[in-house]
Amino acid sequence: MAASDSRHHRDSERLNKNRREFSGALVLQVSETPSTDGIDSHGAGREEVELVRRQYLESEQRFRALLESLPKVAVQGYDRDRRVIYWNEGSTRLYGYTAEEAQGQLLEDLIIPAFMRDGVIQAHFAWIKDGVDIPAGELELKHKTGELVSVFSQHLMLNEHTDSPLMFCVDVDLSDQKRAHRDLEFATHFDRLTHLPNRQTFEVDLDSLLDSCRRQGNGLATIYLDLDHFVEINDALGYDQGDRLLVELTRRLIECQRVTDLVSRVSSDEFVLAFPGVHSDSDVRRVVRHVQNVFREPFVLDGRERQVTACLGVALFPENGESSRELIRNADVAKNRAKVDGQSAVRFFHQKLHDELVRQHYLSARLEEALDNGEFSLHYQPLVSATSGQIENLEALLRWKPAEGPPISPAEFIPLAERTGVIHRLGDWVIEEACRQQVEWRAKGFHEHRIDINVSGRQLVRTGALKSFEDALQRHGLGPRDIGIELTENVLIEAEETVLEDLRRLYHRGFRIAIDDFGTGYSSLSYLKHFPVTALKIDRSFIHDAPTQPKDRAIMEGAIFIGHRLGLEVVAEGVENVEQLSLLREMHCDLVQGFFFYRPMPAKEIDRLLGGLVPSHDGLSS
Ligand code: C2E
Ligand code: MG
Ligand code: MG
Repeated sequence: MAASDSRHHRDSERLNKNRREFSGALVLQVSETPSTDGIDSHGAGREEVELVRRQYLESEQRFRALLESLPKVAVQGYDRDRRVIYWNEGSTRLYGYTAEEAQGQLLEDLIIPAFMRDGVIQAHFAWIKDGVDIPAGELELKHKTGELVSVFSQHLMLNEHTDSPLMFCVDVDLSDQKRAHRDLEFATHFDRLTHLPNRQTFEVDLDSLLDSCRRQGNGLATIYLDLDHFVEINDALGYDQGDRLLVELTRRLIECQRVTDLVSRVSSDEFVLAFPGVHSDSDVRRVVRHVQNVFREPFVLDGRERQVTACLGVALFPENGESSRELIRNADVAKNRAKVDGQSAVRFFHQKLHDELVRQHYLSARLEEALDNGEFSLHYQPLVSATSGQIENLEALLRWKPAEGPPISPAEFIPLAERTGVIHRLGDWVIEEACRQQVEWRAKGFHEHRIDINVSGRQLVRTGALKSFEDALQRHGLGPRDIGIELTENVLIEAEETVLEDLRRLYHRGFRIAIDDFGTGYSSLSYLKHFPVTALKIDRSFIHDAPTQPKDRAIMEGAIFIGHRLGLEVVAEGVENVEQLSLLREMHCDLVQGFFFYRPMPAKEIDRLLGGLVPSHDGLSS
């Protein structure tokens, strides 16, 4: 016998055995206990009869136990008229009828929904008459309450060719799977908390809305909404209050919608809305106001009323994008710009804004590589004495000349380096390079000039930043006369106590610590006395306008006066002409720095300047 034949043989053996057991069960079901009379009358011995009877009962118990132990499997038996003759516990659980209630009832009256009734009767009839199998399949049958229940139903036909054919239905409850499937469907398309469409669903919906806008020649506004300080609300009040806020916000957003508008939640505190039929500027303003009004009333959180705000970014169809993806992305770009402006800000998408962000992204990604490739260098700008015009110090200014393309300004890449954290490596490089250069100059006999390096706030966030600055100097055999630092006033005000301690140590060791861009930050003069600083560098915006603007002149004069009273050296940045210089001299400013004297220049040029190979500036002789 071939292998498959033998398997087939085994399978049919098993099937026949199952059928025998089912038949046994059925007989038991119909006539409670098996009669042994027949066996007796054939003259078998009493013991033998007992044995058969016991085996019979055991077989029945096994079968019953099997059926009853399958809570999710409902088994029902029906006679040739489709009346219930067997109804297990699983059937009660699935369809709601007890065995007593079901017994004797018609299949079609019990669990068959009206629309299936005729089909079921016909199928049953076709089986009885012609032996046509009833196929297994997924069905929705009727519960006692009238609700539909999902089942996978198989049919087992017994005693086909007798007067009492029986049909057993074995139904597996699929409601858990169906529910899980529905939940999955929901989770892939909607947000669980607010029940709003998610980003994917919104994209699809918006694309079809755009199609109809295109057909009807309609404009559309896409608004990206980002809650302000949501993280703080979550942190301070707990996630459940954060959730509450989102749900209430959703309610308000839906309330202010027309049927054609779309709203979705795209991430934790971000929503995107679409308003078709927007044509003029005033239409756009109207929908923006609409969304802003949602925040007019306070939100009740943790039993208290709180004013919540959001930033909005707006992108318009067709001007700012043709597809849902483009519009959402551009509204997001505008929103990110609004975030920079501060809470409640609204921004409209502009291509320039987008290009700028793309460039920032590109530069951020390139910074580290540029450092490895040696694309950075230091330029030095002399600070000269306002009275003698002599070069006193040099400010080290970082330069980035990419392998390809024009140089990039530190005003552009320093903030990016701060954001990406590359500032730490970059800052370390600046310290090393300034030290190396100073050692070289000292070796050449230039002993007078100190190099001041700029240190940004982010650099100081790293623990021990100033200690590693001191270590670097020590490694190069340099001290306070060789290298100084410049910090902005905001850095000082926001500094941790440990940073201030380190600064105090440097101060007491005699390092020069200058406050850079003075006047552009908090500018609280009273702070000056608390900080361990030795110099003030007045921001160039005041110098620029001082000759023509009395107010700028007054501020400049005040800063110089107070700086001196506090024992600080005062420096004026950005001196570009003789009028500015004269004013500064009148005000007794100590040092000046600016294009009027020298531009920042490479170390080689400073070499020649300090070596007397090029004449020094004669700006003061006039
Ligand atoms: P800053 O420290 O205030 O540097 C002075 C800036 O003013 C420099 O710009 C300099 O080139 C420019 N400047 C000097 N004289 C004049 C003038 O007469 N007129 C005008 N219009 N500008 C003048 P730069 O080199 O573009 O640097 C910009 C800023 O980038 C610096 O401002 C500083 O905050 C930052 N920066 C530069 N190098 C470094 C660095 O190594 N580390 C850190 N953390 N920041 C740096
Ligand atoms: Mg500086
Ligand atoms: Mg400055």
